[in-house]
Amino acid sequence: MINFAEPTNRQTILVVDDNVSNIEVIYEMLAPHYEVLFATSGVEALELTVSTRPDLLLLDVLMPGLSGYEVCRHLKSNIITQHIPIIFITAIGQTDSEEKGLKLGAIDYIAKPFSPAVVKARIANHLELKRYRDLLADLAWIDGLTGVRNRRQFDDFLERELRTAVRADRPLSLIMLDIDYFKPYNDHYGHLQGDDCLKTVAQALSQTLCRSADMLFRYGGEEFACLLPETNAAGAMAVATRMLECIRTLNIEHPASDKKIVTVSLGVCTLIPQQHSKTEDLIAPADKALYQAKALGRNRIEFADDL
Ligand code: GH3
Ligand code: MG
Ligand code: MG
Repeated sequence: MINFAEPTNRQTILVVDDNVSNIEVIYEMLAPHYEVLFATSGVEALELTVSTRPDLLLLDVLMPGLSGYEVCRHLKSNIITQHIPIIFITAIGQTDSEEKGLKLGAIDYIAKPFSPAVVKARIANHLELKRYRDLLADLAWIDGLTGVRNRRQFDDFLERELRTAVRADRPLSLIMLDIDYFKPYNDHYGHLQGDDCLKTVAQALSQTLCRSADMLFRYGGEEFACLLPETNAAGAMAVATRMLECIRTLNIEHPASDKKIVTVSLGVCTLIPQQHSKTEDLIAPADKALYQAKALGRNRIEFADDL
């Protein structure tokens, strides 16, 4: 879940140089401001970049084994790492090698000996751009009001998780959740307070998820979906129960509801996937169960067990 109000974490820089004393100089300069990782060979740099996804690489050109240029070429051809900015730092001051580095996709080129203040300023600029690029990429997938994943991501993940579940022959569960009497809530308190309520509910729901694979989405309006990979019916009901309880515990005043507080209704479905399973096989029953929960009085969970 993205919290738009909070400052983001420290950014990470990977310094690659076969000369350890060069690394030490750069480490001293950057460690107060950033997380600094280092690698002393091209191969190590490739491995670390894939496993840690740093925000920036400072890359020496001349190294035994894989050169900086080759490392750059590898990273730029890998879809996972191609967007990580690379700055070459090297003793070679000739323009042709600078041109070569930039043509390979490096974002900048710093020649040794360098002025620490200038290098720090350039790094700060590149990292700021990286932060904005990451934020834009996130915004395409994040619901702007609540900060949880959006509908577009739900469609994407559901398809992906269903295929994984089929391959692994593992259950996949879905919870559909809808706020009860939300129209009267808006009518009573106004749309802005309605928005605040949605944010509070989303925040509370996301805190009920324990496993890192579990995902919460804003499905639309005042409806949320929760996708639980590798989770059977009992597990899904346990999560749904936590959700129901946690919204009650928020104790948000709602005079127009018969319970006098904001409550939710939930529909739960667990699918043991077959080769031919479709996303609709999970969505339709969960939706139906949610409808049933509404019809039976709201503020409750129904499980779709007539599959
Ligand atoms: P039920 O208990 O059957 O779910 O009734 P309900 O009133 O919650 O459902 P209904 O579908 O009639 O109304 C949903 C309301 O949710 C209507 C709409 O104004 C409100 N809503 C949807 N999206 C937003 C939003 O982004 N912000 C606010 N404030 N309200 C929203
Ligand atoms: Mg509703
Ligand atoms: Mg609704």
